Amino acid sequence: METTLRGVGVSHGVAIGEVRHMGTAVLEPPVKQIPADEVEREQERARQAVQAVASDLVARGSLAGGEAQAVLEAQALMAQDPELIADVERRVAAGSTAERAVYDAFAAYREMLAGAGEYFAGRVADLDDVRNRIVARLLGVPMPGVPDSDEPYVLVARDLAPADTALLDPSLVLGFVTEEGGPTSHSAILARALGVPAVVALPGAVGLAEGTVIAVDGSTGEIFVNPSDERKAQLEAVAAERRAALAASAGPGATSDGHRVPLLANIGGPADVAAAVEAGAEGVGLFRTEFLFLDDHRNAPSEEKQVEAYRQVLEAFPESRVVVRVLDAGADKPLEFLTPADEPNPALGVRGLRTLLDHPEVLRTQLSALAKAAEGLPVQLEVMAPMVADRADAKAFADACRAAGLRAKVGAMVEIPSAALRARSVLQEVEFLSLGTNDLAQYTFAADRQVGAVSRLQDPWQPALLDLVAMAAEAARAESKGCGVCGEAASDPLLACVLTGLGVTSLSMGAASLPHVRAELAKHTLAQCERAAAAARAADTAEEAREAARAVLSGE
Ligand code: PEP
Ligand code: MG
Repeated sequence: METTLRGVGVSHGVAIGEVRHMGTAVLEPPVKQIPADEVEREQERARQAVQAVASDLVARGSLAGGEAQAVLEAQALMAQDPELIADVERRVAAGSTAERAVYDAFAAYREMLAGAGEYFAGRVADLDDVRNRIVARLLGVPMPGVPDSDEPYVLVARDLAPADTALLDPSLVLGFVTEEGGPTSHSAILARALGVPAVVALPGAVGLAEGTVIAVDGSTGEIFVNPSDERKAQLEAVAAERRAALAASAGPGATSDGHRVPLLANIGGPADVAAAVEAGAEGVGLFRTEFLFLDDHRNAPSEEKQVEAYRQVLEAFPESRVVVRVLDAGADKPLEFLTPADEPNPALGVRGLRTLLDHPEVLRTQLSALAKAAEGLPVQLEVMAPMVADRADAKAFADACRAAGLRAKVGAMVEIPSAALRARSVLQEVEFLSLGTNDLAQYTFAADRQVGAVSRLQDPWQPALLDLVAMAAEAARAESKGCGVCGEAASDPLLACVLTGLGVTSLSMGAASLPHVRAELAKHTLAQCERAAAAARAADTAEEAREAARAVLSGE
């Protein structure tokens, strides 16, 4: 009999296939005492396993490229944490086998992270994955990961580790479903980058029996277990309709009555450029520059290295707009040499622009590298700062850009509610705003973006978030300046129409979402988008807002 489950759709498309679970069994090595003369050999085995797993993660990263690379390299750094290795060695010296010592040392580390606050919860899956890989290597058993199958399947997991999602083979993996994770988690961002349908935060996902047929609608978040033939036919028809609309969509982003909304790409580095160009991006709306800083967690990359990476991106978009975000370190992207280690609540601590203002030399080098990279190119370079709280922050950033001799438009990201509430004041210092709706939702609802349990509040359809978007867009309009969205909200086609109706002037998203958003926008007039926006804002919950907008846009 068919049953319906509902999670959060985070990557578009329909997939129908059998459930295969991720190999995430926790390998618990037995407790065994080793003789003293084996300690050194055992310690060496542990070090080698750690090194091999770290190198494997880095290698997977360079194969995957882009944002996946940054995530995998961060995992490799976790594996090589000197304190963790020292703890493993201590445990071996006390008589543990290498595998048991790794298992116990990671458990202690995990507990410490958990005790350090909810913020770390999203990283626990990454940490567990690193542990499982090292233990599997030491035990000589297969690595945990995607199932071994020649037939296409729907991958189901509690949560997907970046190491696995990065290398999923889209020809075998029809889609994926996770019990944990929110719409802005790493897994969701990576799924969209891969272009496979995905639903996260689905209660009961891990209880789905292996081999059960399910239908996944990554646009609505619905999962149909044992779908009836009529259901399959209906979903296939919807998918075919969506595909036809996609195929028909090309050219610049606009509503059906010609109101232009440039559609830009979010990229994590030069590796993401090709997909963005192929998807018809009209430029880059968010270049996350963190990836450059992950290679060496003790030092900033040299100016020359930065110039080279920025130049590769700028050259790919001749005469287009490229918005570069300066380094956003801290909270979910800590950097050892910049991020204070002892903050009780890093998401509310020194991160983003605050970090850069504390380390002006890092900002100076980055801005100077950007100025050099843009020299002689016709590109429209724009730079923006993450985590701007108020006018003083905006001024400090604009001053730094001027001092670096940068010939670029200077902007502020709106990720903190105070910046949306006082957008007009912030706009006295900068030339554009870009709404980072992932963090804006996190701070508006006091809901950690990495914690699946609060994903309800991370939903960008929340009317309170829409109100803040409207405030920022209205302020920008009053100042005759641009206000884009570069958070994940822009990648939801229906929401993209609502954002347009709220007065947002450009939308930036992962390349895979561009055709979906372009096709949806082209179906509606600006007036319809405005009506949908008003209906969504009049709602009390995210679900009601989504339904109200859908009703307006489908002419019901
Ligand atoms: C955001 O917060 O919406 C954003 C675009 O920045 P990031 O996801 O990199 O924090
Ligand atoms: Mg952000």
